[in-house]
Amino acid sequence: MTATKRRYSASDVARAQFNKAVRYLNLDSDMVEYLVTPKRELIVHFPVVMDDGRIRMFTGYRVHHSTVKGPTKGGIRYHPDVTLDEVRALAMWMTWKCALVNIPYGGAKGGVQVDPKQLTRNELRHLTRRYATEISILISPEGDVPAPDVGTNPEVMAWIMDTYSMHRGYSTPAVVTGKPISIGGSQGRIEATGTGVMFTALEAMRHLRLDPNNTRVAVQGFGNVGSVAALRLWEQGCKIVAISDVNGGIYAARGLNVRDVLRHQKEAGTVTSYNEADAIDNTELLTCDCDVLVPAALEGVIDELVAPGVKARLIAEGANGPCTIEGEDILLDKGATFIPDILCNAGGVTVSYFEWVQDLQGFFWTENEIVDRLRRIMLENFHAVWETALEKRIDMRTAAYTLAIGRVVEAINVRGIYP
Ligand code: NAD
Repeated sequence: MTATKRRYSASDVARAQFNKAVRYLNLDSDMVEYLVTPKRELIVHFPVVMDDGRIRMFTGYRVHHSTVKGPTKGGIRYHPDVTLDEVRALAMWMTWKCALVNIPYGGAKGGVQVDPKQLTRNELRHLTRRYATEISILISPEGDVPAPDVGTNPEVMAWIMDTYSMHRGYSTPAVVTGKPISIGGSQGRIEATGTGVMFTALEAMRHLRLDPNNTRVAVQGFGNVGSVAALRLWEQGCKIVAISDVNGGIYAARGLNVRDVLRHQKEAGTVTSYNEADAIDNTELLTCDCDVLVPAALEGVIDELVAPGVKARLIAEGANGPCTIEGEDILLDKGATFIPDILCNAGGVTVSYFEWVQDLQGFFWTENEIVDRLRRIMLENFHAVWETALEKRIDMRTAAYTLAIGRVVEAINVRGIYP
């Protein structure tokens, strides 16, 4: 899972997935070049005064991949391995994700090279306020709306919203999504990505004739996405046999009580010390005996070394880009079905869109309204991808890409190229 182990960068993977889909679209090479080229990329180096009074320099990024279909949308990641290449890939994935689920956004992403766990809350707040100021030339409710990603959370979004609002002189909730409810956040946003994973995974199980009550699920990553996906699938009757976090994993063939694992993780800070299960490492999680695998941590974990050992029939990609090109080819040859990331984890950006709409209108919806609309969007798009895959005899990811890229191309053609 470390960057050094990977043969291909996240951008290589994103571009290869794009190139594979482009073969099914009748596009000329100029258009292809336009579609893969990021619109703008900002690199910022900035100082933060640490609690001991020393100044530490940090590097951050914000990339806009496409603004063709509307303001850009994309999370902010705090992780020591963040690079421009990774942020660029994640921004491009956001463009296709938003187009696939038909929400009026282009793709963006941001990140800071930092391990947030090594900073005090005070240092993290200073870092966030300074980073928000550095990228404030790009973000706005009309232009670019960040959200949480790995290593960031509603509190970080609140600090960004507050920083931006202080500079404007008035409160601007719609500048970020994934905020706490008390400052304009949406009901259901925290759970949205994991809930969307559950909706698409259950629908795929139905098509694959997997009865949830007899289905064994392994979940890698027990953060915002993984913990909610595990909990929701468990509530639907699935047997969650394995769960992991950055420290390692746990396995119980009889199934884990996910609520109890969550409680343990809150107390202990990790799942690994949960003692009603066997200890496993993260590779063993990916290759354990299960029917459904939900990678919900970082990119590139299912590569050509891991894929031959994967036993799951269904891969529900909670994370962005968890599978390398070779890893996916090996699994497709073995007959596995993918719910590709741009579909499977689109619940987060969908409810972020609901949050932005509510903030702009100053009118808020109930949790039931949010979950109903989310379910409808996830299922409609699942079916669109499933049927495209069947009709064109292509895999689910390529089907999702052809739909998404086709919509962006249509928008480019309708708008025309300026001037
Ligand atoms: P998070 O920080 O809340 O959780 C990440 C989890 O992965 C944690 O349990 C962490 O311990 C684990 N992890 C980190 N490094 C690991 C490693 N090397 N091996 C195994 N586990 C590791 O992050 P999140 O928001 O849940 O995001 C997870 C993935 O989902 C990312 O790929 C992110 O881009 C994607 N995603 C998130 C959202 C969202 O709304 N949060 C939306 C769409 C996609």
